[in-house]
Amino acid sequence: MKIHAVEGNQQRLDGGAMYGNAPRALWSRWSPPDEQNRITLACRAMLVTDDRRRVLCEAGIGTFFAPEHRARYGVTESRHVLLDSLADVGLRHEDIEAIVLSHLHFDHAGGLLSSHEEGARLLFPNARFVVGARAWERARAPHARDRASFVPELNRQLEDSGRLEIIQGDHSPFLGEAWRFHFSDGHTPGLMLAEVASDAGPVVFASDLVPGRPWVHVPITMGYDRFPEQLVDEKAHLLPALHARGARLFFTHDPETAMAAVQRDDRGRYFA
Ligand SMILES: [Zn+2]
Repeated sequence: MKIHAVEGNQQRLDGGAMYGNAPRALWSRWSPPDEQNRITLACRAMLVTDDRRRVLCEAGIGTFFAPEHRARYGVTESRHVLLDSLADVGLRHEDIEAIVLSHLHFDHAGGLLSSHEEGARLLFPNARFVVGARAWERARAPHARDRASFVPELNRQLEDSGRLEIIQGDHSPFLGEAWRFHFSDGHTPGLMLAEVASDAGPVVFASDLVPGRPWVHVPITMGYDRFPEQLVDEKAHLLPALHARGARLFFTHDPETAMAAVQRDDRGRYFA
């Protein structure tokens, strides 16, 4: 089994919004802001291949937005970087057999669509789309606070594909026993974190529970999180268990680090 970090289009978002109640004096050391106070964020997918199948965790933001919206989210490249990154490892989007989606916010699922210029149509014609039941429910009926993070047209195309696999428990019948799911509600209800077993220990796609290394520190949350206190509690519960099992976290939004082991310092604080 092999794990590849597959880079998608980067985005630039307001640094204060990404770090919740942490002061700029603190977060600007971790993520240097530009003159508009924005920080660079990766939208990285995790590709897991073995002799049986090719599975992608998420698809990044992509380029389905019209150019003026791209500019708003700091997506500077018009090419669909995820497709180029797949080509770098010898794959086309048609070769992917499953895509695990933690939730359907556009910076995690927008890359399922072709670019705006090519009609924003659903790519990955041979993949099933693995989505948690509550994340799917939320995407179909968002709250006013996060409605702008969803793409109704994407939801429609996923439904029409006939290849949605809605997950009720903590396994996918298609992916089998090597994969299991953790669930979290602090960022958005029903966020589904995929864990895959590897020879070097478990790897957890940390999605927006832990978008990058600075957020491994338990008190650090995002302004975008629906329920920050709950998210802190969820990290405080999950990280000790992952640390004890020698697990690594895969980061979608960290611009520099794709994967790192969960560590604990002598004061009991977690870092990666
Ligand atoms: Zn999100």
